[in-house]
Amino acid sequence: MILTITLNPSMDYVYRRDTFVLGEHNRFENPHKMPGGKGINAARAISFLGGDVICFTTLAGLTGEHIKKMLDSDKFTYINHEINGESRNAITVMHDGAKQTEIVEAGPELSTEEEKEIFDQIDLILNNNSYKVVTINGSVNSRNDSLYLNLLKKIKNEHPDIFLLMDVSGQQLKNIVNSKDIHPYFIKPNIVEFSELVNEEFADKDELIHFLKTFDTNINFLLISCGEDGAVVKYKDNIYNIEIPKVKVVNPTGSGDSTVAGVAYAIDNDYDFESMIKLAMASGMSNAMEKGVGVVNKEVVSELIKKISVDLIV
Ligand code: ADP
Repeated sequence: MILTITLNPSMDYVYRRDTFVLGEHNRFENPHKMPGGKGINAARAISFLGGDVICFTTLAGLTGEHIKKMLDSDKFTYINHEINGESRNAITVMHDGAKQTEIVEAGPELSTEEEKEIFDQIDLILNNNSYKVVTINGSVNSRNDSLYLNLLKKIKNEHPDIFLLMDVSGQQLKNIVNSKDIHPYFIKPNIVEFSELVNEEFADKDELIHFLKTFDTNINFLLISCGEDGAVVKYKDNIYNIEIPKVKVVNPTGSGDSTVAGVAYAIDNDYDFESMIKLAMASGMSNAMEKGVGVVNKEVVSELIKKISVDLIV
């Protein structure tokens, strides 16, 4: 069983227009609306893959109610936790070919009391059921830059056998990577997030691979996703280049979340390493070929898997 954790969900709106002009009046067709936030998207993708998943999410105010109503029609089970304020909106505009412009609100800031309540609620959930995988995804609006590190420590201390995946960024990720004593099983920064994390520029995958050869980390499993260029993976002491075929992209939002979904599903179902990476890549690609976010087509995934290569570099 898999638990996904979303501490800053959003109401997602995807608008499309051939051209989008800043400073002018741009008229749009009605948007494609979906409840989002990385953990919600990952839960959706896991449910499309046929996995056993429960989604934990905070919700706030009227936007929170809206998200809740829409989550009711999703196929996965969710547990919501009410907090103060107003859940955020996230607006994506697809325009001018493959361009994607995003307007993303910060979301309600968690109080110290709310953070404690959330930790207690997660504790309850984990004690109520047997989870093999827990994945913590997306941003959190907290004054505590180590909130995710603290959550990781709490879960690892009380449930050492759980596989903990983290798809987070910014200072929260830095504090996790720099932690001396405790680490998640897996992280999935995209190449831009990884570049920010290590303060290095990478012109292409070759430069990234070169950097990784001497990159010292205690995290065993690091998947750096590179959009249409596939990914680079550091697993234990090895580095792999993951090549993917070209596909017709409709909306790549949620591809990273679907990639994490693939990894979570594969661990939960005892896949070997290569099959896990192929499923993860194919899930991200299948999502990119759909209008919806966290939407994955299992038949498309099976076809894509045949065209993905996992090449050992060192
Ligand atoms: P994120 O959504 O976190 O920014 P990426 O954009 O790197 O992550 O996408 C994650 C994965 O989804 C990629 O490694 C790839 O497998 C797939 N993917 C994303 N964008 C595309 C694309 N334009 N074409 C094909 N596959 C894609």
